[in-house]
Amino acid sequence: MMTHAAYDCDVLVIGGGIVGLSTAYAITRTAPGTRVTVLEKEWGPARHQTGHNSGVIHSGIYYPPGSLKARYAVRGAAELVDFCAAHDIAHAVTGKLIVATGSDELPRLHALVQRGRAHGLPVRELGPAQITEYEPGVRGLAAIRVGTTGVCDFTAVAARFASEVSTAGGRIRYGAEVVAVDRRPWGVAVRTADGEVVRARVLVNCAGLHSDRVARLAGDDPGARIVPFRGEYYELTRPELVRGLVYPVPDPAFPFLGVHLTRGIDGTVHVGPNAVPAPAREGYTWTDVHPRELAATLAWPGSWRIARRHWRYGAGEVRRSLSKGAFTRAVQRLLPEVTEADLRPSPAGVRAQAVLRDGTLVDDFLIRDAPHTVHVLNAPSPAATASLPIGREVARRALLRARATGWTPPAVQSGHCV
Ligand SMILES: Cc1cc2nc3c(=O)[nH]c(=O)nc-3n(C[C@H](O)[C@H](O)[C@H](O)COP(=O)(O)OP(=O)(O)OC[C@H]3O[C@@H](n4cnc5c(N)ncnc54)[C@H](O)[C@@H]3O)c2cc1C
Repeated sequence: MMTHAAYDCDVLVIGGGIVGLSTAYAITRTAPGTRVTVLEKEWGPARHQTGHNSGVIHSGIYYPPGSLKARYAVRGAAELVDFCAAHDIAHAVTGKLIVATGSDELPRLHALVQRGRAHGLPVRELGPAQITEYEPGVRGLAAIRVGTTGVCDFTAVAARFASEVSTAGGRIRYGAEVVAVDRRPWGVAVRTADGEVVRARVLVNCAGLHSDRVARLAGDDPGARIVPFRGEYYELTRPELVRGLVYPVPDPAFPFLGVHLTRGIDGTVHVGPNAVPAPAREGYTWTDVHPRELAATLAWPGSWRIARRHWRYGAGEVRRSLSKGAFTRAVQRLLPEVTEADLRPSPAGVRAQAVLRDGTLVDDFLIRDAPHTVHVLNAPSPAATASLPIGREVARRALLRARATGWTPPAVQSGHCV
């Protein structure tokens, strides 16, 4: 048994995105005095998915009742709004429209109404005339308006989690890439690229696009591979064409929501993201190719099964990625007035999508425990919205595992309840 002093920290979190930082924040809140360290390979927080997304606080309407996504998004959206208000972070609850442009989409739109109401969300059905009252530039056969959707600055939220963790005595190290994990009977030791060794009772893996690799470094089989899907955006040069948030009816075969129109918290309107396979986990453009990562993606049987099953959809997405004209024509279904000249390329994001061996795209959040370890293996959208409840759940599991090493939370030691 190691002495308490021989551990560098109690809980070590890999990943300074919104999920890792929310986990560290939850630990400092629920078990004050716990020694928590976050290792992030970049030189600041939120440099990957958290800093490259649509900035939408999702209502939870899309997700099946009982799923973690539904539970955490509905609760997380409300908590996030309160968190932003309490910490003076830019946000707005604007509501959004989901618009059907083809008659084949109407049954799916209707099913969303039922689902939204089952989640207790304020959902209003709209006809074509009412759509134009909300969004004069948008055309559709029918739509629904969900009142609790909003926008915020997720980078600012993650940065605030980080500063709260530091204030509570936690340690956050940037520029610290974990390259080796050694699990022992007493806990876990990790080594960073610059040679630092950190010993912890429990390791929490929130490595996003690299979460499956970190799981394998720890000796665990994640059962799925992260297949990176880039989401490209354009910025609307005539932002006055869109007042708020406008989404198509999503294709239920995919966990992606389809190209939408998003007026962000800074007033700019983004159009996107699409979903194209990325030849690198951090491949933000077609020229970002990482041969080893590409080879690993291609070696995963699930990648080929997705390609076989969804080649038609995938080919359309690639065509719209390579041809601005094709992209514009797709957007014109929702916003007829838009032209190619109105769209200016804007930075892309890359989604970490876990894919099973049989080609199933893992839909729900996936959190797995292993000895001395908690892995977050799938945290796609709406994980930024749901970051507070996800962080609490991961923290709860990590603290349970820490207790198994003979540790008691400092507040318990000093007679306070945790
Ligand atoms: C295009 C796009 C649009 C989206 N839109 C929305 C939206 O509107 N609303 C919403 O709620 N969600 C949205 N999402 C999803 C949301 O952004 C993610 O679910 C969320 O940011 C995931 O956070 P994370 O902390 O798990 O991952 P990340 O933010 O990717 O963080 C993981 C971190 O781990 C670090 N890391 C990896 N490996 C190591 C290592 N070995 N050592 C040290 N550090 C390491 C990385 O550098 C990274 O900073 C979107 C995502 C994308 C890509």
